[in-house]
Amino acid sequence: MIKVLLVLIALIFLTFLIATPQGTDIKNVSASEFISSVERGDIKDVTIDGDHITGTGPSVGTAAPTEYVTYSSDKSELIRVMHEKHIVYREKQPSSLGPVFWVMLGLLGLLVIGSMLMKKASGANRSMVKRTISNKATLHHTVNVSFKDVAGIDEAVEEVRDLVTFLKEPKRFQTLGGRMPKGILLVGPPGNGKTLLARAVAGEAGVPFFSADASSFVEMFVGVGAARVRDLFEDAKKRAPCIIFIDELDAIGKKRGGLSNGGGDSEREQTLNQLLIAMDGFSANEGIILMAATNRPETLDSALTRSGRLDRQVVVPRPDLRGREKILKIHSRDKVIAPDVDFVIAARRTTGMSGADLESVMNEAALHAGKLNKPAIELADIEHACKKVQLGVERKSAVIPETTKKVVSVHECGHTLAGWFTVEADQIREVTIVPRGQALGLTWSMPDEDQVLLSKKQLLAKIQLLYGGRIAEQVVFGPEFITTGASNDLERLSKIAKGMVKTYGMCPELGPPQVFGDTESGFVFQESRKDYSDKTEALIDDQVNKLLKGCYDQVLQLLTEKRDLLDKLTAALLDKESLGQAEIEAILGPRNPILA
Ligand code: ADP
Ligand code: ZN
Ligand code: MG
Repeated sequence: MIKVLLVLIALIFLTFLIATPQGTDIKNVSASEFISSVERGDIKDVTIDGDHITGTGPSVGTAAPTEYVTYSSDKSELIRVMHEKHIVYREKQPSSLGPVFWVMLGLLGLLVIGSMLMKKASGANRSMVKRTISNKATLHHTVNVSFKDVAGIDEAVEEVRDLVTFLKEPKRFQTLGGRMPKGILLVGPPGNGKTLLARAVAGEAGVPFFSADASSFVEMFVGVGAARVRDLFEDAKKRAPCIIFIDELDAIGKKRGGLSNGGGDSEREQTLNQLLIAMDGFSANEGIILMAATNRPETLDSALTRSGRLDRQVVVPRPDLRGREKILKIHSRDKVIAPDVDFVIAARRTTGMSGADLESVMNEAALHAGKLNKPAIELADIEHACKKVQLGVERKSAVIPETTKKVVSVHECGHTLAGWFTVEADQIREVTIVPRGQALGLTWSMPDEDQVLLSKKQLLAKIQLLYGGRIAEQVVFGPEFITTGASNDLERLSKIAKGMVKTYGMCPELGPPQVFGDTESGFVFQESRKDYSDKTEALIDDQVNKLLKGCYDQVLQLLTEKRDLLDKLTAALLDKESLGQAEIEAILGPRNPILA
């Protein structure tokens, strides 16, 4: 859990990239693809520049690294993932050149649109102009995905099942006078099958699938996005019954009339207006079903979810244990699996993973088994893959100075000890000083079961585990030699403590349970609005402090008392680089919590 300050290196790297532009491959991906790649550790050096997000992917062979590009107005999920994975990212401040730049672009835009209109008026090449406007958005194809390819989200499948009947026989519904919903909003975190589900509906019904990424609507020139929306719906009408799927709807569907930030917004609003017009422009029984996906439903303009538009919400949640087992099986269908592989055990290793993660797990497992020349994929390959997907790729070749290695070992062993001896802490699965992704070392802890609810005790245990790294550095090297390696740990534990006091009502000293601060959406990254008195504010600060101090003191005492175990574990870790649960147990003894 050590975070590296790679900014300098990244800068040098960036200069290098700028110097050799011909060497890089640029790949446009959807925001959710981008996030899952970051989650897998495939994308590094992420730069956020307004809505424009870039990252560097792995290089294949001797080829230059791929530059991944995506657009998203909502970066919270990405930022959360990067925090979780300890990935350093840069956020560019809007440059002071901005206004001039936009005016110039505006002029240029007017010129281009003007000339387009003239061409249009003269009747020449009309279809060509139209194609330039629309080809990016209007993508239609038949799909061969069915409900059999979807698992773990049974309720969501049930909710969309009747759509299939309707799409197959719209006439029957018309004569009966029934009214189908026009729009379905699929809601849930990335990678759990929203797109898949929409495709499966089209596949089951055997109807065309028109899909567009909402961010592709938002272009430089005002009016282009609206034109694309119009074309999309026009094309779809000709092919009804069919499905129109709009991915990442929040890119255009954000609440209107907020703080404007220049040209981009009016384009977005025009596109949104056009979308609303288009939705009202077909009647429910025409055989067109609009499906849209978002992971931030609360940011959507309420006009979108009004009755007669996207008025049915279907939640596509992260899969639970049973669901993960089934999804793993689905992605094993085309692979050779050893007969003794128990998918229940495999599913237990994947707590918290999304469907897309599970797909990569099976893929990585196949690659790993192949590398070892095995005739079939074994459980060990799947476990190896789980680690790779959850923790990022090992950077075995990274050269870390010996002194740094020592610090990292002490730090990670501190986490391990704090977790090992704390009641309610997650199971420690492994501790390692092999760098993975951008982390120099990792303590891998994972609960035995899915954690749906967290008790106060479990939250405190998480704080203690997070404190372990810094406190071990302090105990071993002395207070003057603590390092920046704990920055991410500290960020996370502060967030937990503030959440406990302000959001979860876990602090009796502040009166009966209540929420302090008004967060419109339940997202942790959103700054909450202060809705309490200055006096309460001071009390809150005190209580957060007190809570953290309690945890800190307990871990400090533990690590001071168990200094010999800490040293033994550190020596073993330095020697072996990774210790599994059994090896840790051999040194620390059976997990025997002594901290309450
Ligand atoms: P979302 O649109 O919610 O971000 P996707 O539908 O694009 O997620 O999922 C990406 C991939 O992950 C799918 O193509 C599929 O292979 C796999 N996947 C995700 N969820 C599931 C699921 N519930 N069942 C089977 N496979 C899944
Ligand atoms: Zn740490
Ligand atoms: Mg998707």
